[in-house]
Amino acid sequence: MAKQAVAVKDRIKQRIRRGDTVIVRKGREAGKSGKVIRVLRQKDAVLVQGLNYVKKHTRPNPQIGRQGGVMEKESMIRMPNVMVVCPQCEAPTRVARKTIEDGKRVRECKKCSYQF
Ligand SMILES: [Zn+2]
Repeated sequence: MAKQAVAVKDRIKQRIRRGDTVIVRKGREAGKSGKVIRVLRQKDAVLVQGLNYVKKHTRPNPQIGRQGGVMEKESMIRMPNVMVVCPQCEAPTRVARKTIEDGKRVRECKKCSYQF
């Protein structure tokens, strides 16, 4: 039986991780960048700190000590609409995924080959 890389096929390609800096390519926040605070893999989306705020109108709820009013909260940005910003060359880049000697998976900037 041939040993094939089945695992790779099953994995959801994860280009973006929490803590990454990304730049938004499309939509309301196009051109802005920020830090990823959450990755929603099922939805193929990310939450980016300070970006894509939506206003939420909330009623006061004294039971949980919440004041009413307008709250602002980050909302999801679809992953295809963002690009990772390379920590080394600070440019929005595509990343290659690699497995290095000790089995660790790294991502590599396609522009400057920096691994992160
Ligand atoms: Zn780079």
